[in-house]
Amino acid sequence: MKSTEFKAWEKSIERMSRDQRDKLRKRLEGKENADEAIALIESNQGGKLVCPHCQGTGLYRWGKVSNLQRYRCRQCNRTFNALTGTPLARLRYKDKWFEYEQAMVQGLSIRKSAKNCTISNKTSFKWRHRFLQLPATCQSRKMNGIVEADETYFLESFKGQRQLSRPARKRGGKASKKGISKEQVPVLVVRDRHGETADCILHDRSARQIGSALIPLVNKDVILCTDGLPTYRLIARQANIVHRPVNIAAGHRIINGIYHIQNVNTYGSRLKQWMRRFNGVATRYLKNYLGWYRMFERLGQSITPTLCFLSSLGKIRQIQLLTTT
Ligand SMILES: [Zn+2]
Repeated sequence: MKSTEFKAWEKSIERMSRDQRDKLRKRLEGKENADEAIALIESNQGGKLVCPHCQGTGLYRWGKVSNLQRYRCRQCNRTFNALTGTPLARLRYKDKWFEYEQAMVQGLSIRKSAKNCTISNKTSFKWRHRFLQLPATCQSRKMNGIVEADETYFLESFKGQRQLSRPARKRGGKASKKGISKEQVPVLVVRDRHGETADCILHDRSARQIGSALIPLVNKDVILCTDGLPTYRLIARQANIVHRPVNIAAGHRIINGIYHIQNVNTYGSRLKQWMRRFNGVATRYLKNYLGWYRMFERLGQSITPTLCFLSSLGKIRQIQLLTTT
């Protein structure tokens, strides 16, 4: 914009009503957020830019699409931008993405997030699960030292699905049977004493299920702490891992002052407490919510919309750079 043009425009601010000024302020804020989002999307993680279609490196600029630089690949002739092939590809309203991540920081429901960002519930739903797609896959792969494992349970829910295989429960709801039943979805939570955390939704509590979730997560020389469930004893023996079962029922919560499952248990309680706000999560989306909570715990006090956004983009190295300085 030419400076004379801008001056005239600036002068018109005088004639604006408070309402109009508020609108303008929001627009400017949105513009700034969109610019920042685009800068983060396009920021390179150090590696050379490659074509997501054929991994070719011979690229040239090919105009812009929704403010993102578009490239054309010499090898396959196709075009792409920094979001192509990511969960955020083709989502609209970039000016609201940061506001949406703010709602994620606050742990707001789909409806409340929609209201805060003035988007529809449908968009909010779509964004929620697209934004969580990568955080849902981001978890510790290798645990060391003393490793605690335990299951926590979530009520099976078909929320939002039209075809129910059983009569509907009231929102949130309670299981009809007490204790562990088919209505409860078991989630294995594994943590080591360095705070490395992973979880896995189980189909059942068989040794095969728990073992195939647990064993790839731990190094051979770990000391595995669990409750007295015989399944764990079997798994540990088969994998040749040192096992310290804690007999909670008999009141033995800690062995030798160090072997216990209190870290994993308190993590489970915090997770359940946090999940309560959603009045039951559809089982098919439970994985995303587990990932959301892990991100929440991992970022801790330093959590910001920017860091959540980088998580949604899968830019882990940038998060590490921002959180370690
Ligand atoms: Zn290509």
